[in-house]
Amino acid sequence: VTVGVVKESLPGERRVALVPKALGRLLARGLRVVVESGAGDGALITDSDYEAAGASIGDAWAADVVLKVAPPTAAEVTRLAPGTVLIGFLAPLSNVERIKELAEAGVTAFAVESIPRITRAQAMDALSSQSSVAGYRAVLLAAERLTRFFPMLTTAAGTVAPAKVLVLGAGVAGLQALATARRLGAQTTGYDVRPEVAEQVRSVGAQWLDLGIEAVGEGGYARELTAEERAEQQRRLTEAITRFDVVITTALVPGRQAPVLVTAEAVEGMPSGGVIVDLAGESGGNCELTEAGQDVVRHGVTISSPLNLPAGMPAHASELYSRNLTELLGLLVNDEGALALDFSDEVVAGACVTGEGRD
Ligand code: NAD
Repeated sequence: VTVGVVKESLPGERRVALVPKALGRLLARGLRVVVESGAGDGALITDSDYEAAGASIGDAWAADVVLKVAPPTAAEVTRLAPGTVLIGFLAPLSNVERIKELAEAGVTAFAVESIPRITRAQAMDALSSQSSVAGYRAVLLAAERLTRFFPMLTTAAGTVAPAKVLVLGAGVAGLQALATARRLGAQTTGYDVRPEVAEQVRSVGAQWLDLGIEAVGEGGYARELTAEERAEQQRRLTEAITRFDVVITTALVPGRQAPVLVTAEAVEGMPSGGVIVDLAGESGGNCELTEAGQDVVRHGVTISSPLNLPAGMPAHASELYSRNLTELLGLLVNDEGALALDFSDEVVAGACVTGEGRD
């Protein structure tokens, strides 16, 4: 089987689906790897780096298995031959039209977002690996926008108090944000509607903000709040937020619009010079005043809604993603290095969004 690593075309997408370091495991399994020239450019990986690791440079779109980061464009779908296996972020819930095109093109597509989040599939969990990058970078961005220091400093010119950072939504991105803010010396507090994460929040040195609202839904994810719960949550958060210099929001509910946790009134109540980094911008935003992809200043508070933060740290983001993909590939290929799609496996069946054995 040939595995193709193609060049990403999405503007600003600097990640690559497979880094040279990850090639060894695939080659050892008898796979061949073809890389499109320039595929690693964004991550500052050269064609010769790939060749040195055992890949060849060529038409990666013609490979049996094509690895991608971002969903393919309509034009890219036409480059895939019937029978090709495609693996990548495919946004299956929001990108329905493209999935249909893939089906019509006879492609068997695996969306990394659809990999069941069970213990056995943890090493394949690309949502988690990329969320860690996003959580980390969100804090760096907030620190850069903030008009104050993060750490407490005692200097000859005076003492400054540490920044107070609140993270709303303590999933993978939120926990990484808390850990990163703490490493920078901030006083950190985490909040979520899943009570079981209180322990995880404390384990990264943060305080747990308990607002008395629990909302655990299917598969351990948060559920959408009722209108009453939402109003109560917003009221309590508006009060709590006045105490923080930085608010980082990461709250998502699968398949739904992101919940509004920070109202316009809450922004008004924050100290002037404060910063909100909203990681949910693509899903509508957790802050009422968020403008997706923009930095805006409202009531003296900078509200930043970065899109695709993992793309800005391409080396490690790609390295972790490569590991996720090689683990998934390990499930799709047998010991002889041939494709063997076993749809009785819940991970294989769960991740497959279209193609042979699926419809
Ligand atoms: P996510 O990105 O879907 O959401 C981020 C966080 O926002 C979650 O913690 C969620 O509880 C929170 N949230 C949603 N609505 C909220 C609201 N109204 N107010 C406050 N917070 C709200 O979540 P994620 O980071 O992708 O993952 C979280 C879930 O996935 C957890 O159940 C986690 O244990 C599970 N998970 C499992 C595995 C595994 O076992 N393989 C790996 C990663 C994550």
